[in-house]
Order: sequence, then C-alpha cells, then structure tokens
Amino acid sequence: MSQQGYVATPPYSQSQPGIGLSPPHYGHYGDPSHALSPPGVMKSAGPLGAAAPGAMLPPGPPPSGPHQFGQNGAHASGHPPQRFPGPAPVTSSYAPYPPSAPPSYPGPASASPTSRLGSQLGALQISGYGSSQPGTAPPGQGPPGPPLPSTFQSPPRPAQPSALQPGPQLLPPPPTTLNGPGAPALPPAYRQDGLLGPASTQFQPPPPPGQGPGAGYPPQQAGSGPQMAGPQLSYPGGFPGGPAQMAGPPPPQKKLDPDSIPSPIQVIESDRATRGGQVYTTNTRGQVPPLVTTDCMIQDQGNASPRYIRCTTYCFPCTADMAKQSQIPLAAVIKPFATIPSDETPLFLVNHGENGPVRCNRCKAYMCPFMQFIDGGRRFQCGFCSCVSDVPPFYFQHLDHIGRRLDHYEKPELSLGSYEYVATLDYCRKNKPPNPPAFIFMIDVSYSNVKNGLVKLICEELKTVLEKLPKEEQEETSAVRVGFITYNKVLHFFNVKSNLAQPQMMVVTDVGEVFVPLLDGFLVSYQESQSVIHNLLDQIPEMFADSNENETVFAPVIQAGMEALKAADCPGKLFIFHSSLPTAEAPGKLKNRDDKKLVNTDKEKMLFQPQTHVYDALAKDCVAHGCSVTLFLFPSQHADVASLGLVPLLTGGTLYKYSNFQMHLDSQQFLNDLRNDIEKKIGFDAIMRVRTSTGFRATDFFGGIVMNNTTDVEMAAVDCDKAVTVEFKHDDKLSEDSGALIQCAVLYTTLGGQRRLRIHNLGLSCSSQLGDLYKSCETDALVNFFAKSAFKAVLHQPLKVIREILVSQTAHMLACYRKNCASPSAASQLILPDSMKVLPVYMNCLLKNCVLLSRPETPTDERAFQRQLVLTMGVADSQLFFYPQLLPIHTLDVKSSAPPAAVRCSESRLSEEGIFLLADGLSMFLWLGVSSPPELIQGIFNVPSLAHVNTDTTLLPELGSPHSRRLRRAMSAVQHRSPYAMKLTIVKQREPPEAGFRQLLVEDKGPQGGASYVDFLCCVHKEICQLLN
Ligand SMILES: [Zn+2]
Repeated sequence: MSQQGYVATPPYSQSQPGIGLSPPHYGHYGDPSHALSPPGVMKSAGPLGAAAPGAMLPPGPPPSGPHQFGQNGAHASGHPPQRFPGPAPVTSSYAPYPPSAPPSYPGPASASPTSRLGSQLGALQISGYGSSQPGTAPPGQGPPGPPLPSTFQSPPRPAQPSALQPGPQLLPPPPTTLNGPGAPALPPAYRQDGLLGPASTQFQPPPPPGQGPGAGYPPQQAGSGPQMAGPQLSYPGGFPGGPAQMAGPPPPQKKLDPDSIPSPIQVIESDRATRGGQVYTTNTRGQVPPLVTTDCMIQDQGNASPRYIRCTTYCFPCTADMAKQSQIPLAAVIKPFATIPSDETPLFLVNHGENGPVRCNRCKAYMCPFMQFIDGGRRFQCGFCSCVSDVPPFYFQHLDHIGRRLDHYEKPELSLGSYEYVATLDYCRKNKPPNPPAFIFMIDVSYSNVKNGLVKLICEELKTVLEKLPKEEQEETSAVRVGFITYNKVLHFFNVKSNLAQPQMMVVTDVGEVFVPLLDGFLVSYQESQSVIHNLLDQIPEMFADSNENETVFAPVIQAGMEALKAADCPGKLFIFHSSLPTAEAPGKLKNRDDKKLVNTDKEKMLFQPQTHVYDALAKDCVAHGCSVTLFLFPSQHADVASLGLVPLLTGGTLYKYSNFQMHLDSQQFLNDLRNDIEKKIGFDAIMRVRTSTGFRATDFFGGIVMNNTTDVEMAAVDCDKAVTVEFKHDDKLSEDSGALIQCAVLYTTLGGQRRLRIHNLGLSCSSQLGDLYKSCETDALVNFFAKSAFKAVLHQPLKVIREILVSQTAHMLACYRKNCASPSAASQLILPDSMKVLPVYMNCLLKNCVLLSRPETPTDERAFQRQLVLTMGVADSQLFFYPQLLPIHTLDVKSSAPPAAVRCSESRLSEEGIFLLADGLSMFLWLGVSSPPELIQGIFNVPSLAHVNTDTTLLPELGSPHSRRLRRAMSAVQHRSPYAMKLTIVKQREPPEAGFRQLLVEDKGPQGGASYVDFLCCVHKEICQLLN
C-alpha cells in the first residue's frame, strides 16, 4: 500500500500498480472487460482475444498452418505425462503445510531483541523520508547533525589477520559468523553481528566505555566540531573529485583501511566454502538459499528453486508497521524460464486432459503443496485464501494417517515447488490451440549497412543459425516457421515458398499504414524452403549493392512483422538488424534530440523517455498479439535507444547494441549474440499472475512486461534470461504459523505450439521480530530490486532525488537494525547485519552506474541502453553487472583446474607484475601490468614482451601453452555467467584504453565521478548516526 508514510519502498516506486513505463494513452486498450475481470481469474482470452485477425486482409488460405495445427492439438492431448519419480528422500516426515511448522530458519529461535522493539518504534522516524519531495535534505547538506569525530579518518589500522586478507592469494576463510546467512551449521546469532567474536573485527573493535578514540569508528564525541560536513561525504549531491588519474600510483587518499570494511569477495567466497558443491533442498519454508555466485545442485522438495525465484528476504514481517519501520523492500525476482543445469531435474508436465488443472474455487490458485486435503480427501483448503473446494471426482484420492494423499509423491503438483500443466482450450485464444511461433528476420539494407559489409555478414550467418532453430526436447525438427523482410525507407517482403525456383520480392511503399502483401509463402518451414532461403540470403547483399538510400524507417518495420504474425495467427519473434536513427517520413520518425545540456537538470529524465508515443503504443499492440521484438542495433552515432529500445523492452525481447561496429573487432560478439538468442528457450504469448496468501499482495512489477490491469503481467515472450521483479505490500497482518505464500503462474505457448501453464510456488516465513527479517535478507536480490525501482523512476523523477532516496533508504535499513537488533554499543560504531554487510558497497555501485550518474561525457544512448537492460535482469546478472568479477590471471595455477579466486574491484588489488581479467557481463577486459612476466606474455600471446602485444584485437590466439589454455578456460567460465557475448578489450597499464577498464573498478572513486566505497561507507555511517540521534 502506498499510503502516507509507508516507506519500505522508495517513494518513486509507488506509481499506480499495473502501469507500465508510461501511462496508457491508447483508447483501444481501455477495454472495460479487462478491468472488470474478477480477481483471481487467470485471463486467457481477455486481452489476447482482442485480435481481429486479418481485418485488412482477405481470409485466404492460412499458410502451412492447418496441418501443424491439428498435429499440435493431438500432441497436446496425447502427450504422455513425464513420469514422476518415487518418494523423494528426506521428505518422509515432511508435511507440506503443518500448522506447527518450525521456524523457517534453522537454528535456535531468536529471542531477546524483540522486547525492545515497541518502545523504540517511534525513535527511528526520519522526518520527511518517504515523501520523496525534492526538498528532502540530502544527507550531506542537511542539518549538520552529529559530526563524525575527526579520528574517523585516522591513519589505516593494521589489517586484521583474519579472513579478510586481500589480494590474489585470497582463500575461502574459515567459517565464522561473517559467513552470511547461509552458514547452515551456525546459529543465526544476529545479536553478535559486528559485535562479538570475529565479526566485530571486521570493522573495528568497540572500544570499552571511557576509552579514548581509537582506530576505526570510535565512540562519537558530541560537539567535536563540524568538520565532517565537508564535501567528501556529501555523496548524493556532488561526486567528489574529477576524473581519476589514468595512470601512476594509486591515490594516497585512503584514510580507512579497505581491508577493514566488508568485502564482497569474502562474502562470496565464504558462501562458496560453506555451501558450494552441495545439494540444496527446498523443503523448508523461508530458508535462505545459497548466493547466486555459489554453485550447488538444487533439489525441488516443495518450494521453487532459487533459480526461478529469489526474494529480498525469506522472512516477511508480520505487520505493515514492521515493514515500514525497517524499510526493507519485500520483493521477489522471478525468472520463470530460468535455465536449469543438466544435472538437475527438468520440470514435470502434468496433464489432466480435458479436466485441466485443479484450482481453488475462489482465488483460482493452482493445485500445489500449499493445499490441505480434508474430509477424507473429498475437499481441499486453499493455502492462499483458505477457501474450501471440492476435489473433482477424477482427482479424488484417499488420505493417509497424517492427512496426506496417498499419491502425494506421485503427483508433482502435490509435492514440488515447480511444474507445468498442459492447458486446456479454455486457456487458448479463441478457445483453439495456438499455432507454433514464427521468427521473422528484418534487415536494414540502407547504404551504409550494405557498404560496410554488415548485410552480407548477417545473411551469411543466418544460413548457419537457421539450422539451429529451437525446438521442444522430444521433437526432431523445429516447428518454428521463418520469414524475411528487408527495408530502408520502404519494406521488401519475400516469398520463399518451397516450390519457387527463385524468391520473389514484394515492395510495400506505403509505410504509413503497412499491410502484408503476401500470406502464402511468407512464413515457411526452413526445412522445406531451405534452398529458396539460401538463394535469397545470397542475393540480398547484391540486390541492394547499388542502393544509395540512407534513410530508414523503424516503427513500420515492427508493424509489418506484427501484422504478418497476426495474419498467420501465430505468436513469434522479430529479429531486427538496424543501424540508424529512423528519419524517413513515417510513423515513429525520430529527430536527433541528444541534448547534453539536460544532464544534471530536472529535465534529465527526458533523455530516458521515448521521443514519441508511437513506440509505446506499438509495444502494447505487439504484446497483445504475442509478437516479441529483438533488436540488434549497430549505431555509428546517436540512434535514440530510449525510443528504439522501448519495443524490445516491453515485448520481452532483447536489445543488443554494437556502437561503432567494426567488422574485424565486433563480428564475433555479434555472431555469438545472434546464435545464443536464436537458440534460447523461450515461451510466447504469456500471461503471468502472482498470487499470494492473505495479508499481503503484489503491488508493483518491473520488467519487460505490459500491464493493462493491476494483476495480469502480459509478456509477448519470456526467455530463459528475463526476470520480473515483483514488490509486495501488506494489506493485513501475516501470521507466523501460516507464513507468506507465493504462487507464480505463467500461461504461455511453447516452441512447439502447445499451451501450457508453468507454476512456481514459494513459501516464506513470517516473524514479528525484526531480527528474523534482517537475518533472512539477501543483498543480491535487494540490489536487483533497488536497481529496477530506481531505473524505472528515472523516467519521472530527477536523478538527484533518486540518488538521495537510495542513500537514505540504505542508511535507514541499517539504522533500524542497529537500533533494534544489535546489542547496545557506542552510538558511533558502524554495525551491519550479517546478511547486509555488503549492501553499502553494492548500493554505491548502483549509484555510480552511468544511468544514475549525471555526466555529460556518457553517451545518452549508453545510459538508455543500460537502463533498459537492467530492468529485465535476474539476480545473478545484476550481481555481476554491478560488482564485476576481477580475476588475477597471473596467479592461475597451471596444474590446477580450479578457477582463480576473484579479488576486489579496486586499483589497490592490481599489481604491475600482474595480468587481470575483468568482466561485468557486458564487456570483458584483459589488463596487462607494465611489468607483466614475459613468460606469461609469451604463453598467452606468443610474443616476447608486453611491447609486442597487439591490442587491436578482440580474440586471443589459441595456443597450446598451459597459460593460454587456462586463461581461455577462465574466460569462457566468466562468459558463461552472462547472457550477452562480452567483447574482449586488451588493455595495457597506463595506456589510454585503460579508462574503460577503470570504470569497472567499482570500489574506487569513479574516473567520471562517483564516490569510492570507503567514502560512501563514511557517508552512510554518518546518516546512520544522524538517524540514531
Ligand atoms: Zn484460494
């Protein structure tokens, strides 16, 4: 709820739930039937059925559809349900929903801190916070407040000899209370966080009362001078310092020993050490999963795998007041089609034939482990709404002595967190089975694209990738049909029917109202039309070789693709290969409006907004017809990504951007992206609904989605890399006994043209103790949520306000912990909850991202690109993106196959004798220190010294040397973490290209501004102190 004062969420994310990126302006979307759909009904025909297919076309014979159509129908009903294995281990005594479920978190129940809560509730209110008024005093400029003592910046204290040793030799530390919430053998012990034992040493030991200021964060001295109001700590306002030095010794300004502040690497490594390589079973409600960076095998025992759903906290506060008090956002990051490693069980398919899925009568939740069977098995009580429904006769089964169905372990929907249903015709558009999807390839053949060889490259590559069209596991060939369009300021459709000797071109010059000039022969089976298609792809580069048309259209291209899918009555995906600002006279025409003068003004948000409403309307149209758009963009100058990228974003597609594309440097990256994208597992024409148990509900959604009401998340397509982040708010009290249950149902069409429902269930625990909430938090998911809510807000709010809110909320969350959960200690001591101890560093990385960092040097298109990208990221992607991976390659043990342990992203971790690999999921750098060992250089590059290394390449030579092999293996492991092909840049220390590399050293002060981690921590600490006073 977003009433006054509810502050668990940045106020900017309190836009009306259900509204996408901008308010709908489109009359024809206002179909009242949507708004009136009863809550709980999974819409199938509603928003989908709006299509009036072929309205502008003669009906004509459907192209090659009907026979596949029938085949699919048969396939749908005749599909043998996958066999569900016998009883899972461990679960023999596991009742899915015992009312007396133990506290979710393993270990002793928490006790004492709660008693203090009540009296302190009021003390922590921050005036003005949560109102999001621009007038809210920014931390650095507000009332002076309690200044930090001058000794705060005392000389570095000696590094602790504990687990925090920096540098390349970093090893997994022994388990301590620092090990994060994951350490299963340890008690949660949040009362100790930062106070007792090894944890406290991380920051500084609390000096005994009465002792003078020591190192680190000494007790605060009231009135010890206003010196801390200095600019260094005023993070949100200005970014201290100008561009950092490009070369030379590290800046000597570090006042606080970086080794004494929490290290993301240490957190990652210790989770790996305690939970890596193990089997993680999802049988306990509310348990915190291993970090996304930890490799383990996940076994579904009643809750969805964290690969599908991750939450900001696995223990929800019982009341809205508690949520408000802590300001911890309650959110889930859902990646419904996440890739599952081959050693984990794929989803089971449940087929009830014509009966369809069993659902709750009232809230329409799908049968799942949260349903309780009663009355001898004749009825079941819904875990979400408590309504009792009759068990349909076909589904009846007797109960055993503990009230569980005898077939409990034979039915995935009774004992697993995730599974699929075959959907009945009720779930299909117009109550008939869907056609399989189609892919349409649309190539910009304007002058420069032909001239620079891009058109030829694309056509050549398509011949290869078309062999790899995705298909369903059990199918031999892909059911996906393909079609081809080229365009500049007009559109060319191609007839590639298999019986033609030559492809035929049809030109559509009326781009104002695009129609599809041919139906039969446009969408074809690649297998059947292979020779005609190859013929076409050979001809296209020649066909336009003499064209000197420079202008292009863009919106009509998408319109054409969508109309073609509509005419063929199938969902699908457009692959558009485009290069320039569409300036030709047509709908969606854009002018160059890249105005750097807007940077750092209240109008900066305009840089992220589309230039015209055409693209927003088009995106919604596409979603309504199951048309997803993926854009490969090759801009040589400003192309207005904010406008062009909107359709890919909202239709669940992907935008790939290759600025200043150079054939010899960038081809490989592009080709890898194209191959991966075509082969991706993907569902089409999807509607997602997130149901919750009583007491809370989903209020806001972030991702590549469109919403025409407050509950139905519509996606033209959803692939294995796309995530939707969902925020929850209380609308009543939650109970510790029943917990907080989430069911995410995605209705979609498979690659083979089958309509299915994919169900993910997750149970969270609830507590009336703040300590439980804090100890169950997951920082990586928190950062994903904050990034998406902030990046959504940049469309409407000044960046400065957003930055201030992020800083303020970070401080507030930590102050609430400090006040309510930590043992009493000196007020000035910085105490972080174990589960959030790296939250400040990650939040600083978010604040330094070019989207939120107002710098005219950053190309507007790059900022818009990164903004759109992050909005659909899953937790693993956002973790890598905001805190890149830095690997010391020179420490690779050529005899071992283990990857090198990462080091912290800071210049202080580099060495002149070292070689480092740095990657953030979009780009990859290989940094060569000036004194790199010649034998390493020889082994990797096959040249005698650093001076001989050619940096004008994006590929490493494939040498047989151990160094070369190990490095390439490490690179491919890093690449494996990202859905985007990363372009490799080779950087020599102290040479100009180093700037891009340094940008990713996120713990340092940014070359283009942005505070260092140390400075930011000081800033947050200062805010916390102010809050506590
Ligand atoms: Zn229900």
